[in-house]
Amino acid sequence: MEWGKLTLAGAAATQGDGGWAPVDDPANGKTVGYVRMCSAQDAGEAVAAAHGAFADWSGQAPQARGAILRRLAGLISENSEDLATLLTAEQGKPLAEARAEVASAAGYFDFFAEEARRVNGEIIASPRTDSRILVMHKPVGVVAAITPWNFPVSMVARKLAPALAAGCTVVLKPAPQTPLSALGLAALCRMAGLPDGVLHVVTGNAATIGPVLTQDPRVAFLSFTGSTATGRLLYGQCASTIKKLGLELGGHAPFIVLPDADIDKAATLAVAAKFRNAGQTCVCPNRFFVHEAVYDDFLTRFLREVDRLVSGDGRDAASTLAPLIDEPALAKVERHVADAVARGAKLTRGGRRAAAGRTWYEATVLENVGPDMLVSCEETFGPVAALTKFTEVDDVRGSVNASQYGLAGYVFGRDISTVLKTAESLDLGMVGINAIHLGLEMAPIGGVKQSGLGREGGHAGILDYCEPQYLLVGL
Ligand code: ADP
Repeated sequence: MEWGKLTLAGAAATQGDGGWAPVDDPANGKTVGYVRMCSAQDAGEAVAAAHGAFADWSGQAPQARGAILRRLAGLISENSEDLATLLTAEQGKPLAEARAEVASAAGYFDFFAEEARRVNGEIIASPRTDSRILVMHKPVGVVAAITPWNFPVSMVARKLAPALAAGCTVVLKPAPQTPLSALGLAALCRMAGLPDGVLHVVTGNAATIGPVLTQDPRVAFLSFTGSTATGRLLYGQCASTIKKLGLELGGHAPFIVLPDADIDKAATLAVAAKFRNAGQTCVCPNRFFVHEAVYDDFLTRFLREVDRLVSGDGRDAASTLAPLIDEPALAKVERHVADAVARGAKLTRGGRRAAAGRTWYEATVLENVGPDMLVSCEETFGPVAALTKFTEVDDVRGSVNASQYGLAGYVFGRDISTVLKTAESLDLGMVGINAIHLGLEMAPIGGVKQSGLGREGGHAGILDYCEPQYLLVGL
């Protein structure tokens, strides 16, 4: 695929033109390409066109929609190296992680290509012999999808795949830091045969585009992944038109190591989960609660893995620790670490900007972390592991369940009874038990409390893009 042409065609036309915005490589600050700063009118036109295309697309046989999605999954796999390279260029993550993300996106399209044909209804037993009760699931209509910069390919796929499979049309607003991956996916959608009008990518300023997507009555469903603060704002904006909402918001995942855990496995997976994408992941562990009996052993192995991390440009095969997305992200991490140290945490590793480049932060380990520190209450979204020693698992549960967040968590231990009871007692949408890779397309992804509404993925994921219609038939 010719990504250069796709993005640089914009660049050539844009010098000095306020209607285009640069997309910068976080690793070196260089401009990768330019995208249109769409106006509110552009967004409105996209909604109108998606609305116009809905009848035809939803009227196609599910098998026909599935065939296009299957072709798209194939095209994503065939072009995975180009997509991964583009992703790394605008987002910064190591290429190996970008490749895994692209594979995950292909998995979503492949899975929902199948699910398209399984949107089955129901016949409910009627209280009368002279009537029948039928329930059908109809696609909800135009979907507005707003996606974040931390997983610019897979977060788009997680929304697009079930929406298109159900028969919805989509207006997508990608994050301004990472719009090129979304445009790349859209180009592949066209190659796969997605009809004109079914998908629109609206790039530009959130404050300009957002109100159109949240307030136009032709948009039936807003699917958003991002921060809790922005989710709260969009929830309010959607009230005037009573939209259906899917929200995947912030998290503050606990990582609990019980005394009988496989410590080597726990430490290795803890570091992998924490430092993937430099900690810029809504399901990444924010706090590590380690039982006092195994704390020293865990710490030794944890630090061994941390010391193996290599900060560097994502295109370099040796790099395992990515840069942060931008300067504000770095400033937030610095604030959290300074706050923790000021309140008595021990800085065991890192704690500074890294020499690798402008937005790298060193892999950082804090010990003796207390509940009043910022790292214990807010998402740090950076490469900072906050460790706490515990004696009673009940205290950990209390601390976890007191959080406003309830997205993901991890429990490591061998006794199945204790592990299951601990996992079940946590107010979290997802728990990894001796495992960390939660983001599977066949599973329901999402959180409780202020981590969101609804689930993405799995069979229920496609029904979310539908509304049931009940038909009472008199005979
Ligand atoms: P972050 O602060 O990490 O960028 P956000 O939740 O603000 O996280 O961003 C996630 C997505 O939400 C991005 O696509 C962003 O452009 C979009 N967004 C942010 N603010 C608004 C808004 N007021 N209206 C619509 N979209 C928004």
